[in-house]
Amino acid sequence: MSKQHTISQAAADFLEEEHRALVGGRWMTGHGGDPQPLIDPSTGNSIARIAPASIEQADAAVEAARVAFHDRRWSGQTPAQKQRTLLRVAELIERDAQTLAELETLNGGKLYAAALRGEVAHAAETFRYYAGWCTKLPGATFEPSVPGQRFHGLIRHEPLGVAAQIVPWNGPLVMACWKLAPALAAGCSCVLKPAELTPLTALYLGRLLLEAGVPEGVVSILPGPGGKLGQRLARHPQVNKVAFTGSTEVGKQLLADARGNLKRLSLELGGKSPVLIFNDANLPRAIAGAADAIFSNAGQVCVAGSRVYAQAGVYQEVLDGLADAAGRLKLGPGLNPDSQMGPLISASHRESVRALVESGIREGAQLVTGGEPVSGDGFFYSPTVFTGAGEDMRITREEVFGPVVTVTPFETANDAIRQANRSRYGLAASVWTRDLARGHQVAESLESGIVWINSHGIPELSMPIGGYKQSGWGREHGLEGLKTYMETKSIMARLD
Ligand code: NAD
Repeated sequence: MSKQHTISQAAADFLEEEHRALVGGRWMTGHGGDPQPLIDPSTGNSIARIAPASIEQADAAVEAARVAFHDRRWSGQTPAQKQRTLLRVAELIERDAQTLAELETLNGGKLYAAALRGEVAHAAETFRYYAGWCTKLPGATFEPSVPGQRFHGLIRHEPLGVAAQIVPWNGPLVMACWKLAPALAAGCSCVLKPAELTPLTALYLGRLLLEAGVPEGVVSILPGPGGKLGQRLARHPQVNKVAFTGSTEVGKQLLADARGNLKRLSLELGGKSPVLIFNDANLPRAIAGAADAIFSNAGQVCVAGSRVYAQAGVYQEVLDGLADAAGRLKLGPGLNPDSQMGPLISASHRESVRALVESGIREGAQLVTGGEPVSGDGFFYSPTVFTGAGEDMRITREEVFGPVVTVTPFETANDAIRQANRSRYGLAASVWTRDLARGHQVAESLESGIVWINSHGIPELSMPIGGYKQSGWGREHGLEGLKTYMETKSIMARLD
């Protein structure tokens, strides 16, 4: 057995500190209630305590963001200055990558190597990518057709003001960066609310933003509960936009909360993503890809491939292959380099996974492997494969957000597309085939914000991602993601 990774002194020191909210450029003890423990989900033990920010602190953060936006301390900087600062943020994330990855592992239950090489590296790349847009954002010019008069017409993109950003616990650092980097590149001021279970890396990022030279007041970071703080931000009359990643249920609630001042709203919500494996697929790759699509981060991934559809000729092999992969996965804490799958985030989340699996069994699906919580420390759940799950069963329809996959046969491409599209969600999908023409044809027919052909779950900053149907509104990443933080203004200048 390899030696357990020992956390650095820097991470140990950070955990020991008092964890405070960043409110308008000042670090303040949260006034929203008693300090709450933060839990290592691989042991169930407390690793730190944090007091939630109060409603008054949320209001102060919004006010500071509004003032900062209007005095243009950030939005008025030249594109080159903003670019330099955001590039510096990327460098600082890389400088402190080990500490960030350790905190992400301890608080979020991730595998350390994946956190370091995957999430933290990608977080830095996100700032680098959007830094580049600062100096490259295009507008447009037109020659208007006004009879008898000459005009120059130009279209500009302007930052829309104060953005409230609410993120979940399954990718605490990377999701904070997916929100903050485009908003800052656009010139907005931000109030970020991390998930109550996993605020540490977002708070650490707050330090790095200040160190990089993001002016005080431009970014506030408020740890605390969604129902109070998140709702306050969503209802706040001085907030111009809410950018939310989380469950479809809370996303729907935000529609009502954001209505008061008709805030812009972007929603990255849940998924039940299909994986379509055709007879001619490179089977070892497809099976390994499908296993990774559902078991990485213990299935707590918005694009998790939770419904596998395998063509009749390879169905049994796919089912056996996935069950075999599930059975061989080594579960354990993320700091142990031998671990291949970490825990679920909390006891209550594990209970909701358990209940959904029970419903599958009760409704008549057949359990091939897994299907139970792992006894002992932490919130581990065994990798689970179902077959015979009917189209209307909860296990086929509802997002489990755990390491649970259904495997279902199909005959024709049309049959596969019909089953794949029979979902209220439409976030992601993958198609596995050696026939690229078919891959593209099927991709076009899937009701899904992103489709991978012969891969699954690869993040790409230049490609927009987001949901069809009830998986969301708007897109993150790419120029499209940046423009969700901007208003478009047309200017017509008369020349004669
Ligand atoms: P959640 O909706 O419970 O919470 C997400 C965030 O919203 C948290 O910060 C929470 O504190 C806050 N919140 C909760 N209630 C709120 C309210 N009434 N008003 C304002 N904010 C509120 O989701 P979760 O359980 O933390 O995360 C899992 C969900 O996130 C899954 O459904 C998953 O699919 C989704 N997700 C989607 C994407 C995507 O890009 N589409 C990415 C990751 C996760």
